[in-house]
Amino acid sequence: MAFDDKQRQALMDRLKKQKERGQSIWWRPQEGNNRIRLVPYPHGDVPFIEYYYHYNLSSDKKPTLCPKRTFGKECPVCDFVATLWKGGGDDEKLARQLNAKQRIHSPIIDREKEEDGIQLFSYGSQLYEKLLETMLDPDYGDISDPEKGRDITVKYTPQSKGQPFPKTDIMPKPKVTPMLDAGEEAWTEMLEKCPNIIDLVPEPTVEELEEMLRALAGGSAEEEGTDYGDGEDTDNVAGFNK
Ligand SMILES: [Zn+2]
Repeated sequence: MAFDDKQRQALMDRLKKQKERGQSIWWRPQEGNNRIRLVPYPHGDVPFIEYYYHYNLSSDKKPTLCPKRTFGKECPVCDFVATLWKGGGDDEKLARQLNAKQRIHSPIIDREKEEDGIQLFSYGSQLYEKLLETMLDPDYGDISDPEKGRDITVKYTPQSKGQPFPKTDIMPKPKVTPMLDAGEEAWTEMLEKCPNIIDLVPEPTVEELEEMLRALAGGSAEEEGTDYGDGEDTDNVAGFNK
């Protein structure tokens, strides 16, 4: 589905209100150790929603959802990237920058701020592998289980001079704890309010993607040597917090 202008505006208003309250649907870790809980996703089978994004494309620097890799639909950016791979040299460099990259969104609770309700944690393939390994390890099992699951420590190191990208690492807690200290009734109510990711990430139309490609081509002609950023910061959550 694509948003019409009215739906888009309604969503923007909602997100703006949340921002004013100091809340965001997109969870932002604090520097150092954070304690979160992966929770079941009421709109799907697993708490891992795999989306693909084109970076370095939109003029507002936000990640652009790739309709092809995410939903199997048409994507002119992917088609363009396919032609670039054949060019070699600079073309290949641009292909690498524009190529859709996987991001995983997971519903979580920040155990230090349970009153914020369910938020979405966005991360890249390395953390994803680690989380899946944990879930498949019989000593841990389904760590998102509200009753028998475990919290996760997320260690976050922001971008700094010596480090071009923020760094995120995870470690499941050894101890089994319930999802919320407040008990089952509280978590059932909270899970009912879990947002559906499909309502939060606008799906660009083919026309919009073509327009972004045109703008990109125009921009690079005027400012030769423009650095589009390398888009390899797959564990960087920044793009989802603006
Ligand atoms: Zn694409």
